[in-house]
Amino acid sequence: ASGYSLLRDPHHNKGLAFSEKERDAHYLRGLLPPVVVPQQLQVIKKKPQPSGHLICAFIIFLILEETTNDLSIVMLFTKQIKKLMHTIRQYQVPLQKYMAMMDIQEMNERLFYKLLMQNVEELLPVVYTPTVGEACQKYGSIFRRPQGLFISLKEKGKILEVLKNWPQRKIQVIVVTDGERILGLGDLGCQGMGIPVGKLSLYTALGGIRPSACLPITIDVGTNNEKLLNDEFYIGLRQKRATGQEYAELLHEFMTAVKQNYGEKVLIQFEDFANHNAFDLLEKYGTTHLVFNDDIQGTASVVLAGLMAALKLVGGTLAEHKFLFLGAGEAGTGIAELIALEMSKQTEAPLEQSRQRIWLVDSKGLIVRSRMESLQHFKKPWAHEHEPVKTLIDAIKAIKPTVLIGSSGVGRTFTKEVIEAMASLNEKPIVLALSNPTSQSECTAEEAYTWSQGRAIFASGSPFSPVEYEGKVYLSGQANNAYIFPGFGLGLIISGAIRVHDDMLLAASEALAAQVTPENFDEGLIYPPFTNIRKISAHIAASVAAKAYELGLATHLPRPQNLVAYAESCMYSPNYQNYR
Ligand code: NAP
Ligand code: MN
Repeated sequence: ASGYSLLRDPHHNKGLAFSEKERDAHYLRGLLPPVVVPQQLQVIKKKPQPSGHLICAFIIFLILEETTNDLSIVMLFTKQIKKLMHTIRQYQVPLQKYMAMMDIQEMNERLFYKLLMQNVEELLPVVYTPTVGEACQKYGSIFRRPQGLFISLKEKGKILEVLKNWPQRKIQVIVVTDGERILGLGDLGCQGMGIPVGKLSLYTALGGIRPSACLPITIDVGTNNEKLLNDEFYIGLRQKRATGQEYAELLHEFMTAVKQNYGEKVLIQFEDFANHNAFDLLEKYGTTHLVFNDDIQGTASVVLAGLMAALKLVGGTLAEHKFLFLGAGEAGTGIAELIALEMSKQTEAPLEQSRQRIWLVDSKGLIVRSRMESLQHFKKPWAHEHEPVKTLIDAIKAIKPTVLIGSSGVGRTFTKEVIEAMASLNEKPIVLALSNPTSQSECTAEEAYTWSQGRAIFASGSPFSPVEYEGKVYLSGQANNAYIFPGFGLGLIISGAIRVHDDMLLAASEALAAQVTPENFDEGLIYPPFTNIRKISAHIAASVAAKAYELGLATHLPRPQNLVAYAESCMYSPNYQNYR
């Protein structure tokens, strides 16, 4: 008996109306969000985008129609993809495109991945940021069938049972969130589920991890989002977030159960936790589990890769540059630390010394020694000797950075004055505006190029269209985490790594930076285009795996000779198989 098939059987399914007792009796625990909804409420439950069902019907029609055709499998596939893309493009509203994609994923997984892989530049923003953010905000209303496991405080003491309710046994990657800091949108509680689901589809599409080896999980300890707590359709626990010991115990039970059920080599990626928990969890479980935090480590690796590439345009070594950050949270301090590590590798100087080249500004101003007492622990290494400075512009004047990185989540903070100050200090100022979504970007590509008279080397977290300035067209790269984590995860898996090591992050950065071609540089890009992402991922995977072998952290022995070829051979292909 499986709860998973019960939820997919229209004769017997009751969706969120299954009671607690029924959930226990029929292996449903974890497959549904914690809320139990009476049928009456299900009936009146609002649907935000009714046209989503029209899309759904149309897509079913397309898929069924094609399978009765006599064409060869390949021809058929090509035709299906063409038609589906045409359908998806007809929807103007991004959320409708998202729902259409989710319907395809539900009905025909291979088709979903083929579509995504062949149209990666176009569909990445649909299945992931920015559209996935909107999907999370409305997840309660668009929830249909389980795409992952929900583990709430109600499951305390039963987490191992919950894991066993998931139909797949051989899990290689888990992406888990507690929903407290979803993208730049804040606390979305249980509705954060869209994030692990989206990230794992990128693991498959971009990194070639088998879909059946991926498990999305949302941990529900409540939410502090008043709007959700008062929303009668909210699918999560209706209580304030558990903290302290109660939180730690649930997470500990979870981490223990995962290792017990899936072994030591399952990769657990923490995603969109608030920074106080994110740093603690990484530190606590980094020595006992294969854990990775994409917001801290993945971001750091992607940004370092961009900087390595940028230095080819600007000149100088990392240690010859000076870095200033606006924002000292997960992203800011994570990037800062990885830059310092790489500097120390290159110069053989102590880490302490490398950190001196890097300065951070938070909501209270420049982080300096006199603030030490009141600083959160992850900021302390950055409290250098300096008089207090309140504003970003004054910090630029005082520190004279060559590289300015925005990671505060606050938009429009790289003003004309800020960019001009960078441009007067540097021939080619490096400016990274990382905050997402687009509305939160520190500045636009157009502003960066115009205010620096076309001299800035610019990349951003959210994509910008090409900019024309004085007759020249400037493209700007996207410092998107999707460049690193899929290949990084693949590298861990193919080597059978049991721990993540910072040197693997450095190896991934180098591998990505090496994929930027002279043509890309000519166009102003410090990241390669996404079209070749499978190849890029294979190279990253090979470098990460090589590092795992070198460090003695790999268990897949003997080491394959050609790791790039091996990585490619391990990648999932969505092509149809012949069942005859
Ligand atoms: P976080 O941990 O909450 O950190 C935010 C930091 O910004 C904190 O240090 C905060 O200061 C500071 N801050 C907030 N308002 C400020 C202001 N007005 N002036 C100066 N500093 C301010 O968040 P995070 O995870 O680092 O994410 C930050 C942003 O980076 C988000 O928009 C996220 O989307 C983006 N991001 C982009 C990428 C990418 O492009 N690949 C990857 C990850 C994250 P206090 O510490 O004083 O509160
Ligand atoms: Mn994230």
